[in-house]
Amino acid sequence: AHLARTGAVDEKVHAYLHLDREGALAQARAVDEKRARGEKLGPLAGVPLALKDIFTTTDMPTTVGSKILEGWIAPYDSTVTRKLKAADVVILGKTNMDEFAMGSSTENSAYGPTGNPWDLTRIPGGSGGGSSAALASFQAPLAMGTDTGGSIRQPAAVTGTVGVKPTYGGVSRYGMVAFSSSLDQGGPCARTVLDAALLHEAIAGHDPLDSTSIDAPVPPVVEAARNGSVAGMRVGVVKQFRGEGYQAGVLQRFDESVALLKELGAEIVELDCPSFTLGLSAYYLIAPSECSSNLARFDAMRYGLRVGDDGTRSAEDVTALTREAGFGAEVKRRIILGTYALSSGYYDAYYGSAQKVRTLITREFQQAFDQVDVIVSPTTPTTAFPIGERVDDPMAMYLMDLCTIPSNLAGNAAMSLPCGLAPEDNLPVGLQIIAPATKDDRLYKVGAAVE
Ligand code: GLN
Repeated sequence: AHLARTGAVDEKVHAYLHLDREGALAQARAVDEKRARGEKLGPLAGVPLALKDIFTTTDMPTTVGSKILEGWIAPYDSTVTRKLKAADVVILGKTNMDEFAMGSSTENSAYGPTGNPWDLTRIPGGSGGGSSAALASFQAPLAMGTDTGGSIRQPAAVTGTVGVKPTYGGVSRYGMVAFSSSLDQGGPCARTVLDAALLHEAIAGHDPLDSTSIDAPVPPVVEAARNGSVAGMRVGVVKQFRGEGYQAGVLQRFDESVALLKELGAEIVELDCPSFTLGLSAYYLIAPSECSSNLARFDAMRYGLRVGDDGTRSAEDVTALTREAGFGAEVKRRIILGTYALSSGYYDAYYGSAQKVRTLITREFQQAFDQVDVIVSPTTPTTAFPIGERVDDPMAMYLMDLCTIPSNLAGNAAMSLPCGLAPEDNLPVGLQIIAPATKDDRLYKVGAAVE
């Protein structure tokens, strides 16, 4: 049924980069046979899933939305892919994304943009717009995303779906193509809080193949999602997460959500976190710095594309020609920015200062969580904007991540879930819930109560 749905709508939506019709049917049949034989089935047996094209798969291409990896087949499955297969999930295909997960609209994909199912002329968010569009157009009930600065939560917000960035280290990064390693976090996308929790439980847990993986039991997310409640909880509202640049309808739905939390028995606490306003600036130094280091491996020798290798050119020239042809404009911008920020003489002024801001934000979160159990905010300042509107204005694009970035810098857990449509444009608004690191279950407890 899901493949038929994709056949009917994806020409317009363009959620998938690669659909694995045969593989999906084979996986589904294998689950049926297992069931017929009376074998023990995985916890998500037969449930279809759309996989962001950043997780390596040995049976499908992995492009990360880039020309530089066109046609590349990974020699190993990511830990997430492996865990999904062990859970008996049926992987339908790989979803569209901004190139190397750099973007907020999926317009930076080398393979063309994805439409927002609510209005195909608008963006589905990014970088994981393909996964959220697949959910919102009912092409899959579950999807996987990655969140470096908001790429799970922001697409969830603008497509009226649920997306969770687990605590940093909660889901293995092994086989998840690196953008900014100290910020990157894989996580679940779904249409309901409980569905997200079921997927979360299947993919999370310690992985010796990822040195930053948390060696502790997975938080009880499913139990929390089944027992939604905010009675007696202290919920923080941060002064800095509103003001200029926020759409009136977004703030209206957010205020209604806060009123609902109060009505359900939560105590609302006002918080002042002045360093949060510096989050965007710090992020756009730290993420490009790490990206400039991580993307150095795309040298035309090891992976995918190779341009100009005709026997007359040096390796350096072939590398340069390949990168020129293989990387898009935003990726080049970040590599140049990051290389500059890390260069001697500038390192302390840029990268060093950004790291100090990161520490301040982490501390302000710690102080906030001394006073409250969770923090809530709008996920994004505005609803989905029209495709093309911000492509020539990187700053306007970056503003989409104002409320999501602080959690990546601090490494805590955060969820976006739908909280209604903005009255002025009838487009989905996202409510963000933030919990302290390793307390991911609180997101689900609160999310299930207000869903
Ligand atoms: N939009 C942000 C960026 O372009 C976040 C991307 C992400 O979370 N992968 O860096």
